[in-house]
Amino acid sequence: TTRPRADAIIRPDFKFEEMGIGGLDNEFTQIFRRAFASRIFPPGIVEKLGISHVKGMLLYGPPGTGKTLIARKIGNMLNANEPKIVNGPEILSKYVGSSEENIRNLFKDAETEYKSKGEESSLHIIIFDELDSVFKQRGSRGDGTGVADNVVNQLLAKMDGVDQLNNILVIGMTNRRDLIDNALLRPGRFEVQVEISLPDEPGRKQILLIHTKKMKNNNMLNPDIDFDELAKLTKNFSGAEIEGLVKSATSFQISKNIVGTKINKDVEKMQICRDDFLQALNEVKPAFGVNEEDLE
Ligand code: ATP
Repeated sequence: TTRPRADAIIRPDFKFEEMGIGGLDNEFTQIFRRAFASRIFPPGIVEKLGISHVKGMLLYGPPGTGKTLIARKIGNMLNANEPKIVNGPEILSKYVGSSEENIRNLFKDAETEYKSKGEESSLHIIIFDELDSVFKQRGSRGDGTGVADNVVNQLLAKMDGVDQLNNILVIGMTNRRDLIDNALLRPGRFEVQVEISLPDEPGRKQILLIHTKKMKNNNMLNPDIDFDELAKLTKNFSGAEIEGLVKSATSFQISKNIVGTKINKDVEKMQICRDDFLQALNEVKPAFGVNEEDLE
């Protein structure tokens, strides 16, 4: 009996709307179709095309826009293994001396599973955050110790070798695509590239709704909040900054429930309101995407 390939199953209970990602529908679709979809084709089709599955994908764009989030969720949807997340600067500093070994170890589980299960092996996702710190253009790499070069060579060797393994997808992330060495963008390496940009107004509204959903369900959100208004007021905010805004607004409301050192007896009934958000907007500012025009 052949059981279906484990990586070929979209979890039947999976609902796009419940994913907790705001405003990245197009990006999600692109990532899914270009980097993952061939894996859920019936066996044989990819082989007939004479190609192999995408082994590497680059997600680029400002910090905090949901690159890690989207990679995790797609993996989740496909029943992939919990992704292994590594961070460029961390590999270079923390593991000096053994960084090549660390890269090798990242691939070990996938290799072991592929050896025993072949095409029935489940998908292993490796997320490489802050890729640019390690993969700068030739000649400008790392700190001059050669550690960065070793890491690059080891990762490339692994990715090039991954051709024989069908169960790995390496997702590189960067805020600076312009710094990435072209050698990395070749076929078989980070061949699919998708930009994740700052959310637009409808996207920001969705993200606000996602991060206030729990309080709303618990009746802790005042109806005076107008999310269309907040979406307008959060121009240039990343998803992470919107999440920060919600936290800030919440802390303003919490502070209003303390009188002196006493907690308000009605604290159970507290509700985050519009005014809390307006206060928070004075505190939380977007780091990216602010241009002259916006400052006028
Ligand atoms: P970095 O480039 O700094 O690594 P990133 O793009 O990988 O950032 P994430 O780590 O995915 O960003 O985002 C941080 C957090 O911000 C997420 O865990 C989530 O709570 C929130 N967030 C970011 N973008 C979105 C979004 N589009 N929808 C909902 N939440 C978001």
